Amino acid sequence: MDFSLTEEQELFKQSVIEFATKEIRPGAAERDEEARFDRDLWDKAAEFGLMGLPYPEEYGGSGASVMDTTLAGEAMGYGGCDAGFSLSWGAHVVIGGVPIWQLGTEEQKKKYLPKIASGEWISGLGLTEPEAGSDAAGILTTAEKKDGYYVLNGTKTFITNGPLGSVFVVLAKTDKEKGSAGITGFIVEKDFPGFSVGKEIHKMGNRSSPTSELVFDNCEVPAENLLGEENKGFMQVALATLEWERSVMLGPAIGGMEIQLEECINYAKQRHQFGRPIAKFQAVQFMLADMKMWLETARFVLYKVAWNKDQGIMDPLMASLSKLYITEVCCKAARNAVQIHGGYGYTKEYDVERSIRDAQLGVLGGGTSEIQRWIIGRLLVGGQSGL
Ligand SMILES: Cc1cc2nc3c(=O)[nH]c(=O)nc-3n(C[C@H](O)[C@H](O)[C@H](O)COP(=O)(O)OP(=O)(O)OC[C@H]3O[C@@H](n4cnc5c(N)ncnc54)[C@H](O)[C@@H]3O)c2cc1C
Repeated sequence: MDFSLTEEQELFKQSVIEFATKEIRPGAAERDEEARFDRDLWDKAAEFGLMGLPYPEEYGGSGASVMDTTLAGEAMGYGGCDAGFSLSWGAHVVIGGVPIWQLGTEEQKKKYLPKIASGEWISGLGLTEPEAGSDAAGILTTAEKKDGYYVLNGTKTFITNGPLGSVFVVLAKTDKEKGSAGITGFIVEKDFPGFSVGKEIHKMGNRSSPTSELVFDNCEVPAENLLGEENKGFMQVALATLEWERSVMLGPAIGGMEIQLEECINYAKQRHQFGRPIAKFQAVQFMLADMKMWLETARFVLYKVAWNKDQGIMDPLMASLSKLYITEVCCKAARNAVQIHGGYGYTKEYDVERSIRDAQLGVLGGGTSEIQRWIIGRLLVGGQSGL
């Protein structure tokens, strides 16, 4: 067992931190305030090489390992301090692009991955619906095969990158009678007839990442855009993708917790009360100690899941555990950070106010904490994973 990063990994991580500190961090608070996605910033990140990290070089990617992709996310969270930007990046690279890379035909990979890897086309995943969130097998969007097309009807909601995306991986029912065994994945382009972006969703956090509904009104998807096998989408697309989401996409949360802790230590050292720095008070030190404990344990869990994926080990229990633990401690750390900053932490003057709003998404999106506990519990007593 070796807990250290290689020299190349350290250098790579450092280079992403430098990029994110220089390019992403300035303006992060303003983008949050204005709920503004910055396309120029996206293009710069793409030019730097962040949009195609895990895909093979033949499809325009960098062929980076899962661990290195995770490290890039961590570095982006640390240097960039823009959870919304990291969310859009994750939705694009991980839940939008990875299913195409993992399940796509040669033609699909050649057609879509280079555009995703270059950042030219933004991607995302359309699973959740107004009436089906945690109960993802209950989706109502249908896909009916007709003359070389699948005709999709239904509405997806809460779709990250919805208003920006050029291509989405979408889950729909090809057999309404069969529940999860009747769900199929499709690759849907924004210009397909019958596709439109529905209402934009205004959020409390991650505000620089746009979210919207996607509407399919007799949307014609060519039969060759079926992703994976018909009626196997729940396992092949949804489950496999969520396992990626529950690992790589948590990198930015770790980086965010680390920079937050550093800023809390600095603040506690310079803020004086009762004639001395508040860092001298044991109660403040205890809050910092808890934050450090959460950070380091969360990092171990994340690296274990990334390592698992690099070994080709499917481990839904570890993936759910990682999602549950990291997002829960991220919320707790953000609360401590505000507390350490006192009243100032409750103002727009410091980033900690933003981090408490951003952190809350973690325990909701990609399967809530309750659902993760349910999955872990079921697996512990010998049941099936599910979503
Ligand atoms: C900002 C944002 C971005 C998102 N991005 C995407 C995206 O890109 N693509 C996508 O497909 N989806 C996306 N989602 C959707 C997200 O995955 C869902 O919001 C999430 O799965 C929860 O579904 P829900 O909101 O319908 O809540 P519900 O399922 O209605 O849950 C409400 C509450 O009931 C609890 N609950 C439900 N069922 C159970 C149960 N069996 N046992 C115990 N408690 C239960 C939940 O834990 C929760 O507390 C996004 C959501 C947000 C907020």
